[in-house]
Amino acid sequence: MREALLTMCQRLEQLGLNKGTSGNVSLRCEQGFWITPSGKANAELQAEDMVLMDLAANCLSAGKPSSEWRFHRDIYQAKPEVQAVVHTHSMFATSLSCLRNDIPAFHYMIAVAGGDSIRCAPYALFGSQALSDHALQALQQRHACLLANHGMIATGRSAQHALSVALEVETLCEQYWRALQVGQPHILSDDEMQQVFEQFKGYGDWGKNNA
Ligand code: 13P
Ligand code: ZN
Repeated sequence: MREALLTMCQRLEQLGLNKGTSGNVSLRCEQGFWITPSGKANAELQAEDMVLMDLAANCLSAGKPSSEWRFHRDIYQAKPEVQAVVHTHSMFATSLSCLRNDIPAFHYMIAVAGGDSIRCAPYALFGSQALSDHALQALQQRHACLLANHGMIATGRSAQHALSVALEVETLCEQYWRALQVGQPHILSDDEMQQVFEQFKGYGDWGKNNA
């Protein structure tokens, strides 16, 4: 599990989604979840730095867990299907999060986030229970959300699914940002999005993950 978590961090670094000490990652396990340590640069992380916690917030291994252990824990508690949680301060998701608006269905791929929008959770201090409470609200029936003036959270039924959701959310945020530079994007109707959800049921890995 330590190695799997390290691989996820390296992938996020390669994809340019997390730089420096920004962001954190966790993976569900039998005892609770493994989570990245607090305040360590992604590029310098090692397998032995990872921290094991149970759902009652006890640390079962050495090291200081990510300051965001609360929302990781609360997501695992509230969503039994979630196996991995990725939090990033990636450029476009974070920039748009500062506007404190939901991302609407300007593109059909918004469906990979689990619905017809990506909600933006209200601002709260990093590491706080208030931030976790806001995030859990924004993640209802969704695999991802923005965190106002902060970044994004992506969840998945596997490590790969969570990484794919994070990368797609970042891509969507860049596309929305670019469209907003040159005009007012048209938003897909409820009916059009219903057709997308149907079509997605047979669409590659997304279909499996969203079924
Ligand atoms: P940690 O280094 O404690 O995980 O904090 C990074 C972060 O993104 C806080 O929101
Ligand atoms: Zn953060």
